[in-house]
Amino acid sequence: MKHVDEWRDPTLLRAIAERIARETTRPWKLLEVCGGQTHAFVRFGLLDLLPPTITMVHGPGCPVCVTPLEILEHARRIALRPDVILCTYGDMLRVPGVNGDLLSARADGADVRVVSSPLEALDLARRSPDRVVVFLAVGFETTAPATAALIELADREALTNLHVLPAHVRVPPALDALFSPTATANVNVNVSVDVDVDANTDDTAQTPSDADAPRIDGLLAAGHVCTIEGAEVYEPLACRFGIPIVVTGFEPVDLLRGVLACIRRLERGQTGVENAYARIVRPEGNPLARAAVDRVFAMADVPWRGFGVLPGGGLAIRERFAAHDATRRFALPLASDAAEPIREPTSCRAADVLRGRLRPLDCPELGRRCTPETPLGAPMVSSEGACAAYFSRRSAHAGAPDGAAKSAGSAADGATT
Ligand code: SF4
Repeated sequence: MKHVDEWRDPTLLRAIAERIARETTRPWKLLEVCGGQTHAFVRFGLLDLLPPTITMVHGPGCPVCVTPLEILEHARRIALRPDVILCTYGDMLRVPGVNGDLLSARADGADVRVVSSPLEALDLARRSPDRVVVFLAVGFETTAPATAALIELADREALTNLHVLPAHVRVPPALDALFSPTATANVNVNVSVDVDVDANTDDTAQTPSDADAPRIDGLLAAGHVCTIEGAEVYEPLACRFGIPIVVTGFEPVDLLRGVLACIRRLERGQTGVENAYARIVRPEGNPLARAAVDRVFAMADVPWRGFGVLPGGGLAIRERFAAHDATRRFALPLASDAAEPIREPTSCRAADVLRGRLRPLDCPELGRRCTPETPLGAPMVSSEGACAAYFSRRSAHAGAPDGAAKSAGSAADGATT
C-alpha cells in the first residue's frame, strides 16, 4: 500500500491545493474527461480543496453511460435467443434500455453472464461448442486492445461460435463535439428496433440547448486512454480550440497536480498538451496495442448516448474478421436505417450530465427516484458514472446540508477511509 499512500498523502495534497489557490487569479472551468477521475475527485473530497474560483466540469468519460440505447436493445434481443450466451462486464447488466435491462432479460430466461476479461468469453466459446457466445464489448481506447486480442485469438482457433457486439468508443471525437457542438451529426439517435414507448418519454429529451454549454477553459485528459493512444493524440484538439490539455492520472495527487499544471498554463496564456502522468504515459503511447486495434477495427461513425452520431466516434470490426462480428451474424440494422427516432425518458437528464451542462447534484431525481438500486439512467449504474459518484458521496455524508459539494470530508478523510 505504500505506493498508493504516497499518491494520497494529505500533507502533499494540501500543499498542492494551496499552490493552486495562490496561482489562480481569476475563475477557470476545467473539464475532466474520465468517469474514474470524476469518482476520485468526489470520493476524496478534492473538489472541497479547490478554491471557489476553480470549477470542475465532469465529462462524458464513462463508456457504459454513453453506450447507445440501440446497442442495449440489440444486446437484449440477442441474449433472449435460446442458443446464445451473452457475456459482458458487470456494469452493463443494469443499464436501463428501451425495453428493459440485461438483468431483466436474464429474469426472462436469457443466458447473460458477467465476465471480467474478454478472454473469459473465449474460454466459454471453447467449452460450449453447441452455443453461440456473444461478447458485448464496451469501453474506450483502453479496453479495445483486449477485445482485438479476443477476436484475433478466436480467428486463429477458428472458433466459429464466438462473436463480438462492438460498442467501443473513441474519446477525441466526443471532445470535438463538446468544444464545437455542431460537430454532432444528429442528436437523436435513430434505431430500427421495435420500441415499447413509455408514456413518460419525449423525443426532445436528448436535445439540450447548445446555449447551455459550459465554457470550458482547459481539459484534464484521461491517463489510461493516453497510455494506449499517447499524449500526442490531443495536440490537434489543443491547437484547434486554443486550450491547455493536461494528461492526468487517477490518484488524488495526480489529479491536483493535473489541475495545477492546467491552471499554470491558463494563467500564462499557454495552450498545448502537457503530460502530468509521465510515470505511465509515453508521448507515443503503446504502439503494439494500437497496432492490434488497427488490425481488427476500423474507425466508424457511431452514436453516443447523449451526443448522437459522432464522426469517427467508435470502432467497427473490419471485413477480415466479419465471421466474429455479431452485427453481421445477427444482421443488426444500422443506425442510418432507422424508421423511428429513439426516445429517452424525460425524467433522466443523463445527456445534460454527460455534456457537462448539469451537475448530478442539481438533478431533482438524484437520491429520490434515482438511486443505484432504482437507476433511471446509466450514470447512476456505472462504477464510473458521475451520478453514482455523487450519490455515494452524499450517502456517506448523509445529514450534511447540501450533499457532496459541501461535504465535511477532505482529501485526507477520503484517503484514509
Ligand atoms: S441522477 Fe439519475 S435521473 Fe438524474 S441524470 Fe443522473 S441518472 Fe439521470
